[in-house]
Formats: sequence, C-alpha cells, structure tokens
Amino acid sequence: MANSTYSDLNPSPRLLLGPGPSMVHPRVLRAMSTPLLGYADPEFWKLMDETQELLRHTFQTKNEMTLPVSGTGMAGMETVLANLLEPGDGLLVCAAGFFGNRLEEVALRHGAEVTKIEKPWGEVFAPEEIEAALKTAKQPAKVVAIVHAETSTGALQPMDGLGELVHRHGARLVVDCVTSRGGVPGKVDEWGVDAAYSGTQKCLGCPPGLAPVSLSERAREAIHKRKRKPDIWYFDLEALFKYWSSERVYHHTVSGTLVYALREGLRLAAEEGLEARWARHRANAEY
Ligand SMILES: *Cc1c(COP(=O)(O)O)cnc(C)c1O
Repeated sequence: MANSTYSDLNPSPRLLLGPGPSMVHPRVLRAMSTPLLGYADPEFWKLMDETQELLRHTFQTKNEMTLPVSGTGMAGMETVLANLLEPGDGLLVCAAGFFGNRLEEVALRHGAEVTKIEKPWGEVFAPEEIEAALKTAKQPAKVVAIVHAETSTGALQPMDGLGELVHRHGARLVVDCVTSRGGVPGKVDEWGVDAAYSGTQKCLGCPPGLAPVSLSERAREAIHKRKRKPDIWYFDLEALFKYWSSERVYHHTVSGTLVYALREGLRLAAEEGLEARWARHRANAEY
C-alpha cells in the first residue's frame, strides 16, 4: 500500500470541556514522547514509587496499597468490587445516577447480593438513609458503595461521617472518585474510605488508560481473608501489588508511557497545590 494512502497523524486541536477526556498539559504530552523503559528496569521502579507517592498525596491517604490499575475508570470500579466481594456477599449500592447503577451492574456480574437504594437523579444521600438501608438490607452488607461526584448529574455526595457509619455496621466503604479526584477535596483517610478508585482523564488532566486505586488496611484484610481468589485474574489486587511494591513480581506489562503521563500530571497537581486546584475548579464551575 502506498505510503501516501494514510496521512501523517494530525488531530485537530479541540477544547475539551466535557468531564473527560479533559485538556492535557503540554508537559504531560511531552512526558509521553520520552523513551520506554522495561518493566523490570530499576529506573522504571523508581518512577513507579514516585507515582505512588504522588497518588497518596492526591488521594490524601497514607494507604500503602495505592497504585494505578491498567485500564480506565471502569477498571478501577471492577478491580475494587471484584476483590472486596465474593459470590453471595452483601453489597449496598447508593444510586442516584448513571454510575451508581453501574456499580450494581458490575457487582452482579461478580455474584454479589446487591441491595440498591435509589434517589431521584441529581440528589445525594443523607447518612440516615444509608443507615436505614443497612438495617433492613436483605443480606447484611459487607460493602457499601457510593459515587462521590455523579458525573451524569453533577451532584457532589457529602462524605463526612460516612466511613464511621459504615464501619459501625461492620461494612467497608467503597467510593467512586473517577470524576472528583483532583477537582474537589477527596479525603480518603479522614473520611474513613476503605477503597477509592479513580481515572486519569478527568480532573487529573492525563490521558485515559490508568485507574488509580487506594485501599485501607481494613479493605486489605477483607481481601486477604477471601475464601477463593478473585474471579478476574487481570485485576487481582494482591497479585498487582506484588509488582507495585518492593517484591517487583511481574504480573503484566504496565504501560510505561501512561505511567510517565500520570506522574507528570500528578507532579503538576502537586506543584499547583491541592487547595489551589480545588479553588480553581470551583471558580471555573461557577463561572
Ligand atoms: C467516567 C466515570 C467512570 C468510568 O470511567 P471510564 O474512564 O470511562 O472507564 C466511572 N464513574 C464515574 C463517576 C465517572 O465519571
């Protein structure tokens, strides 16, 4: 085939104002055009460590198990649900929009016993509503899942006290932070969140392709106590963490290019400062 059949790649400049992908800083694009390193290169391991440190800063957590999963935000959702839930385990889903419903859909595929509480799209949940559902759920909840920022409506779920409430009922709190991470405060430790997942292409200002997740010790303990391994090999968190911790056991070839991009995007966020970044997002939203 003649070389001229397909033109040189030249995408038109677009102003991306949807929830994602959003605009990517030139420094992130530059990072993506730097040479590849092998997955077992100590120089790459150092970049992985730094990316995890930056992620902990952005997630406002000390959680050791904080890493980017290969895949988009949905990979983060599936990773967290498939690792925390075994077939027959109770899950309480709070749904007031598209992504709340997705939580149910994904958990059902992994055999969870789902109780869903719903509110009209655009509304958020009060702690009393979640507590009432925890008391009456057909299957006691092992996990409670809620969306922090429901992209389909723009509603921001207040998080204060939810961790404490969920723990009082012996469950773990899973929070979808795909849209919110980097755009509004997201205090994983302070709020008592046990598993948070996100995506890179929204408020983190990177290309899509990685799903940062962060799990508390309480969540890790639940995973460790499973009767059987997760039913999805690619997203087995304990296996993934063996590569993303000092053991460095190969699991799959992580995209170095996307790790460079994420590290640069997180470095930009740290340079700007989280508080300043949230203020800028708020000002832009109001404008
Ligand atoms: C975008 C989004 C997802 C899914 O992320 P993808 O990167 O499209 O896979 C999940 N939850 C919320 C709240 C989102 O906004």
